[in-house]
Amino acid sequence: MTSASLSIAPREDQIWPTLTAAQIERVAKHGRRRSVKEGDVLIEAGQEEFPLFVVIEGEIAVERPTCDGPPQAVVTYGPGAFSGEVNMLAGRRPIATIRATAQGEVIEVPRNELLALVQTDAELSEIIMRAFILRRALLVEKGLGDVLVLGSEYSPRTLEIREFLARNAHPATYIDLDRDPAAQEILDHFHVSADQIPLVICRRVHLLRDPTNAELADCLGLNQAIDVDERHIRDVVIIGAGPAGLGAPVYAASEGLDVLLIEANAPGGQAGSSMRIENYLGFPSGITGQELATRAFTQAEKFGAELVVAKTAVHLECDQRPYVVAIDDGTRVTARTIVIATGAQYRSLPIENLSRFNGAGVYYLATPMEAQLCKDEKVMIVGGGNSAGQAAVYLAAKTRGVVMLVRKGELATSMSRYLVRRIEESPNIEVRPLCEVIALEGSNHLERIRWRNSESGSESVEEIRHLFVMTGAVPATKWVDGCVALDERGFIKTGPDLTREDLDAASWPLSRAPYLLETSRPNIFAIGDVRGGNIKRVASAVGEGSIAIAFVHQVLRD
Ligand SMILES: Cc1cc2nc3c(=O)[nH]c(=O)nc-3n(C[C@H](O)[C@H](O)[C@H](O)COP(=O)(O)OP(=O)(O)OC[C@H]3O[C@@H](n4cnc5c(N)ncnc54)[C@H](O)[C@@H]3O)c2cc1C
Repeated sequence: MTSASLSIAPREDQIWPTLTAAQIERVAKHGRRRSVKEGDVLIEAGQEEFPLFVVIEGEIAVERPTCDGPPQAVVTYGPGAFSGEVNMLAGRRPIATIRATAQGEVIEVPRNELLALVQTDAELSEIIMRAFILRRALLVEKGLGDVLVLGSEYSPRTLEIREFLARNAHPATYIDLDRDPAAQEILDHFHVSADQIPLVICRRVHLLRDPTNAELADCLGLNQAIDVDERHIRDVVIIGAGPAGLGAPVYAASEGLDVLLIEANAPGGQAGSSMRIENYLGFPSGITGQELATRAFTQAEKFGAELVVAKTAVHLECDQRPYVVAIDDGTRVTARTIVIATGAQYRSLPIENLSRFNGAGVYYLATPMEAQLCKDEKVMIVGGGNSAGQAAVYLAAKTRGVVMLVRKGELATSMSRYLVRRIEESPNIEVRPLCEVIALEGSNHLERIRWRNSESGSESVEEIRHLFVMTGAVPATKWVDGCVALDERGFIKTGPDLTREDLDAASWPLSRAPYLLETSRPNIFAIGDVRGGNIKRVASAVGEGSIAIAFVHQVLRD
């Protein structure tokens, strides 16, 4: 196997492993041997579901279609090597073409057999899953995908599209209208003008002008293999793919349940925006929320769980059984049990024109994408909790300096000690306690921020072009209001927190009390940050996902 265009010294043998003769024999039981001749196209980029190939003899080459030139060689596999990456597990379209470059023989393993193989053969599962995940990470890092985004840093929607792709771990090439000389060529090639950005060119041929996330997901085939027919009654439907919602299907699918996970945006939830989670068990040097989410949904898909993205649950029909979840695209899904894991949504600031600067100077995430936009500039962060602290530490290393506006008198009241210490020791983080933003100024982009000291009443203004709003979140429970009992802050009440009045109001029909994590409706569970009394941590969210599935088994047996 030779790598034609990628140089990846570390972990190369894990990304492109060679199977032993004994391992190949075990793979062969799940596929069929076939001979190939030079030039045969084994997989065409963008085709429906695709198989894995193990090379027995000869060579097969992977090439990526580009929208502005000939295909780009990615990698060539020789004897013992195997093709594939994570799209294969979920039944999504391949992003590259595979062609035989020499006469030989391969083993072709269809997707259902590949799933059976990785679920039953621990040794091969480790080799294949690790290679798939590392290959995907490499494609994302190098921007080697089947999608090109042409936009501008002054266009908020460009940032949202890039974030949606990144959080779905979908590799994409980005061309900036103002900085990249190739931009005009692409505009000319597709006969479009610059005022139509952001443009997305999907699989080389489909041009989308300022697409919604749902249109993008459709074009890339992110949801294509999923059956959302109302007549298909699932064992469990999970709403929300943050850590809680991602934990649940890993347990549900691995224990044989028919499970569908519905996500409004992309997997990861709030944790997906964390640049370093340092307190999650098993990752002593920390892990980015994005990486944790990608590993989690790949793990869920390995066990056969289905995940749809860019679909929002808008209503839960809970007066009937099986329950029905109405989705914003008009489809409805039916299930015997429901797990609500919709977490919390970012809180905004009470400033009249704030939404005008969303993505054009005002951000709710601090990921590499935002950091790139603020490179060498000063930034301001509003908030005094852990998410604000993490953002400050991260941005301090990526920007000219960070000003933190904190409403309270000191950080220690709301932030973990290790973060407080890092902030105190960081020379380019300046904390301004008892301060709040009062106005934002600018034309197309944020230019100045005004704030007030609540103790002295004095006002200040500074030329700062980037404001990160990290002021916590409110529960995402509007869509279940009237269906399950909520506490006074809008979080879902479960198990022992439910009162007799809550149960009477929901006409609780059973002689038993609700199980731990069960809501005021039988067989509907709530987990993670959306649940009243939950500990707002990744570990507790994931743990609740696993506990809820134990109760799902219980109620399905009852
Ligand atoms: C920046 C940041 C850093 C953090 N760092 C840490 C850390 O280091 N360690 C730690 O333990 N915790 C950390 N946390 C807290 C942790 O991320 C949360 O406790 C955890 O993400 C909660 O998980 P969840 O799945 O319950 O909810 P969420 O993460 O909020 O996920 C909910 C998901 O549901 C989706 N959703 C919402 N409504 C709908 C709907 N109607 N239909 C479909 N989908 C919907 C959302 O899009 C989202 O993806 C951090 C939080 C933030 C914001």
